[in-house]
Amino acid sequence: MSEPATDPTGTAPHPPLPYDATTALVVVDLQNDFADPAGGLHVAGGERLAELLAPEVRAARDAGAVVAFTQDWHPPRTPHFVTDGGPWPVHCVAGTWGAELVPGLDVRDGDPLVRKGTDGEDGYSGFSVRDPVTDDVARTRLQRELDERGVVRVVVTGLAGDVCVAATALDAVRLGYATVVPAALTRFVEAEPGDGDRALLLLREAGVDVLT
Ligand SMILES: [Zn+2]
Repeated sequence: MSEPATDPTGTAPHPPLPYDATTALVVVDLQNDFADPAGGLHVAGGERLAELLAPEVRAARDAGAVVAFTQDWHPPRTPHFVTDGGPWPVHCVAGTWGAELVPGLDVRDGDPLVRKGTDGEDGYSGFSVRDPVTDDVARTRLQRELDERGVVRVVVTGLAGDVCVAATALDAVRLGYATVVPAALTRFVEAEPGDGDRALLLLREAGVDVLT
């Protein structure tokens, strides 16, 4: 047994995971509204994630891995928001400061960057979106972009661990990717206490390699 790569609080420095050209590091929704304490749906601890992810992104790029990003990108009115009967405070409205990726994130031309929720759908997973009225599910272009680059393994990080990171990782494992979630590289909304632990358990049961 090897030592865990990280401590659960993410306070200790940890060595990056191994990467290669068939791996994608997927950074989910590392946007101001989730990561910044002034954001519309701040996730506690999210303000540290860009710093914690920087060595991971560097290791991935050094190994020739794909680095992909997702971005919640909602219209001002959507049934996703509490203002229109949905579950969430207004967040990540297209074109606003809150929807921007956090400063300091190393995003490069050619990186897959998938915006989700653009037409009023729920956009939890980076791979799929759901119409909250009809329940229709549609795929984003993330799978195609990863497959075009020969990706067989994905490392899912970002925000939030019990919402969009979990949904993205669940889709990834269902789509056949070897899927890893390093718990230290996410943070949890915890709308209900214990949601974070429950999400990690669900991921493990689905076959995701959860690193704690
Ligand atoms: Zn959203």
